[in-house]
Amino acid sequence: MKHIAKKRFGQNFLTDQSVIASLVEAISPKADDLMVEIGPGLGALTKPLLKKLNHLHVVEIDRDIIAWMQKEYAPSNGKPGNITIHNADALKFDFTSLGNNLRVTGNLPYNISTPILFHLLDNVSSITDMHFMLQKEVVERMVAEPYTPAYGRLSVMLQYRLKMDYLITVPPEAFVPAPKVESAFVRCVPHANLPFVANDETMFAKVVLAAFGQRRKTLRNTLKGLLEDDGFTALNINSQLRAENLSVADFVAIANYLHKL
Ligand code: SAH
Repeated sequence: MKHIAKKRFGQNFLTDQSVIASLVEAISPKADDLMVEIGPGLGALTKPLLKKLNHLHVVEIDRDIIAWMQKEYAPSNGKPGNITIHNADALKFDFTSLGNNLRVTGNLPYNISTPILFHLLDNVSSITDMHFMLQKEVVERMVAEPYTPAYGRLSVMLQYRLKMDYLITVPPEAFVPAPKVESAFVRCVPHANLPFVANDETMFAKVVLAAFGQRRKTLRNTLKGLLEDDGFTALNINSQLRAENLSVADFVAIANYLHKL
């Protein structure tokens, strides 16, 4: 169909067939998987996925694309009941409603990548794994280690829950229209057992937010009102450090200390 890519929906359609093949290989769909694709667009991933799966859920916001999909994937055009189309905003979609052991994938709209990742974290109890295309810079932040510039709130909040692997770098030319930045494909698998357990996850999120709120400032400054000198001493954490010097385990330790107070 003739479709003019909409910037407001972050539409960059994958066209490079060898890239698409390597993504599908990385996802490794099995016929009986319960899978949902976010932002199917014109089907670059959807179609090869449907070839391998008995069924696929898709969540798409663009009504023009939805109308096209309803014809394109009509039962007469494919295997009946092969696809369930959800015309919805992925940021508000209740992924847990699809069932357990959900596999999530998509070439995500880059303008809302961080909120989508946080929304999926809220749905993580139903999720088996996730494979996403995102800006390379965002994937670098997701997998970043302490003491690196890319390490931040996103790294800590995601690494708390997920094991992540940077899989493939994808150049702008793999898409139409070409985005301005390089992209990367990432795998996220929820930890079967959390390596470090925050007894109060709201407190954990609050500490991480405060510490990275002003990432150039010392913890003594950013955590003022939350953690005082005696707390730093009890935890054996140097208050002159900055957020980027703390591991996920350190943030959990601070949150658990504050939770007990
Ligand atoms: N998967 C396709 C399209 C990627 S572009 C491909 O690889 O070619 C991103 C897609 O996400 C578009 O189809 C866009 O309409 C859709 N999208 C954008 N914002 C969305 C939202 N909030 N919820 C669901 N889908 C969204």
